[in-house]
Amino acid sequence: MAETSIEWTDATWNPVAGCSIESDGCKFCYAMRMAARLEAMGVEKYQGLTRKSGGRAKWTGRVTLDRKSLLIPATWSKARRVFVNSMSDLFHEDVPAEFIRDVWSVMAETPRHTYQILTKRPRRMTEVLKRDDFPVLQNVWLGTSVEDGRVLARLNELRDVPAAVRFVSFEPLIGSVAKANLSEIHWAIVGGESGPGARHMEPGWVDEIEALCRRAGTAFFFKQWGGRNKKATGRTLNGRTYDEMPASECIMQI
Ligand code: SF4
Repeated sequence: MAETSIEWTDATWNPVAGCSIESDGCKFCYAMRMAARLEAMGVEKYQGLTRKSGGRAKWTGRVTLDRKSLLIPATWSKARRVFVNSMSDLFHEDVPAEFIRDVWSVMAETPRHTYQILTKRPRRMTEVLKRDDFPVLQNVWLGTSVEDGRVLARLNELRDVPAAVRFVSFEPLIGSVAKANLSEIHWAIVGGESGPGARHMEPGWVDEIEALCRRAGTAFFFKQWGGRNKKATGRTLNGRTYDEMPASECIMQI
């Protein structure tokens, strides 16, 4: 487990490492850069996951399943919000359904923790969870990332799967998502890209999302403006911060 500076969670847990580019939102993937650093430091789990191309780290497409990490959540006595797979995508094509089943068992056996699963592959998530009849767990939130209007279909795919909480991360927001349908989506996170080469986020795109949230009754969390130095740009929007979380009454009783 790693304590994390991600504003909307308490800890990260990575039963899988490694990924491949899925869409334009992945272009400056933080996990890809971090995996290259960990590989250079000799950390076994990250060996062979990235290669250098044009001076930048790129995924090789290989994923590592870390069975030992499945034992970790049971060792945390204090309840935490846990971001699952900050260094990968649990629903990457090369993660077998049997392994996802093992991750599900760990989450079922540790109901004190709240698990937040974020994927850019909600179609596969829906297919695997429905086909293999995975139980709906009260402590598991399912989410998808949407970076611009080209991938809004991910919201429909997310809506297709039963979940205690459904959420969307509009980060890195690189285009308007004014046509997004947020019905049955309980929580929306918004953030600009950060780090070298970060693409600009228009303030108007953020206002559009806030308005969509108010209409749909979706909790609105503004994470950051981003840019090269995200500390300098901060996370204040229209003079305040927005740290809303899904209301407990949104969380389905199962
Ligand atoms: S899906 Fe996530 S982890 Fe995978 S390349 Fe894209 S941003 Fe990175």
